[in-house]
Amino acid sequence: MNVLDEFDTITAIATPVGTGGVGVIRISGEKSFEIIEKIFTNPNFEPRKFNHGWIVDKLQESENENNNEYKIQYIDEVIVLPFFAPNSYTGEDVIEIQCHGGVNVVKNILNLVLKNGARMAEKGEFTKRAFLNKRMDLSQAESVADIIHSKTSEFAKISVKNLSGVLKEKINFIRNQIFEVLSKITAGIDFPEDVKEPEYEYLTDSFSSIIELIDSVLSGAKTSNIFRQGASVAIIGKPNVGKSSLFNALLSLDRAIVTDIAGTTRDVIKETLDLGIPVTLVDTAGIRDKGDDKVEQIGIEYSKQSLDEADLVLFVYDCTQGITEEDKDVLALLKDKKYILIANKSDLSQEKNNNAVYISALTGEGIDELKQELTKKVCDINPENLEFVTNTRQQECLRKARNSIEQALIASQLRELQDLISIDVKAAILALDELTGELITDDILNNIFDHFCIGK
Ligand code: GDP
Repeated sequence: MNVLDEFDTITAIATPVGTGGVGVIRISGEKSFEIIEKIFTNPNFEPRKFNHGWIVDKLQESENENNNEYKIQYIDEVIVLPFFAPNSYTGEDVIEIQCHGGVNVVKNILNLVLKNGARMAEKGEFTKRAFLNKRMDLSQAESVADIIHSKTSEFAKISVKNLSGVLKEKINFIRNQIFEVLSKITAGIDFPEDVKEPEYEYLTDSFSSIIELIDSVLSGAKTSNIFRQGASVAIIGKPNVGKSSLFNALLSLDRAIVTDIAGTTRDVIKETLDLGIPVTLVDTAGIRDKGDDKVEQIGIEYSKQSLDEADLVLFVYDCTQGITEEDKDVLALLKDKKYILIANKSDLSQEKNNNAVYISALTGEGIDELKQELTKKVCDINPENLEFVTNTRQQECLRKARNSIEQALIASQLRELQDLISIDVKAAILALDELTGELITDDILNNIFDHFCIGK
């Protein structure tokens, strides 16, 4: 984008295109008020007060531009919310028009706004402006996309914590710690007569505790990634133990939020369920039932592939039979895998003599306990204790910062020149600045906002 375009006045439809109760058109930039004054019947705005009126198109009656006679065409009855800079989402003057939620009425108003001096916003441009105008840091801006795209309600809740600045505060705290050490080193280098260079012991202690701080933020990385991308859970077991029944039992309780996954193969059934984390359940049960040897072979291949890709396996056996030799053969495939041992058909047997989770896919008994166990096994920490989430870009920045501090720690242990040590310390600060967006290239920025929708 041209630099000059960065702060012109932009507009977009902020609500999904379709028929709904209300449609919202957003305008942001210097000309927001000028534009609304031209197309709205009640434009005497005051902060924090909405105005009711009509959006109108003033059609010039004559071709002569000096002729001021207009024909008024009414477009819709609306509510207009004014936000005066800097107290708005973007930090600029913002106007939000709430109209009736029909596809065409929303488009008509958008076209009118465009005709009167705004340009169409690009993806995520409102949030990008909020970031560029320092209304939020990059971790908060990224959380806006997370909230919009979250696959589960739990992830949406955690993303909101990021939006409120939890991650930003953590990173700023670590940055301040590093900056304090850097200031002491720099003072010692710049004013050797007045300021003593810091003790090496102080440096090694400080760097060690900074590494711990970074590690504490990174510790939730795996859980963050699972929250974001979801976990793949395969149901494995010999024929007729109740795999398909379990698949259905797990899903039917969440039928309302179950979605089909595109690209489902003919023989492997996949469905997503919301357990706080998005879990893709993979059922290979149908395959072996076909009885045809060749098909069975293919089925076994699919099972093995699903097994390789799975973050967790649900191994099912029939508790009326106990763990048979055939079960043991399948179990042998799981030796390097995280799995849950599931004894199905508990409604037919009182046997409870091992550490399996006892369930009945038929009656639903034990399914809730299984879900809890599943969530616990998939995440390394309880999602409820997760204070914030990080994305891979942020994790990369944190790892870069950690590596630099580690280099600085080693150099301090070797008592190298503090001038040299300061190079790594500065690199760590730059990595954290890249995370928060204090220092970031246009390419990275555009890439981030490309994942937003238009109107956000
Ligand atoms: P799969 O081949 O492992 O997928 O097994 P299915 O889900 O097709 O089940 C095989 C048979 O066991 C069916 O007749 C099911 O109705 C029955 N079944 C599955 N789960 C249970 C259960 O918990 N209790 C009882 N009594 N029957 C079950």
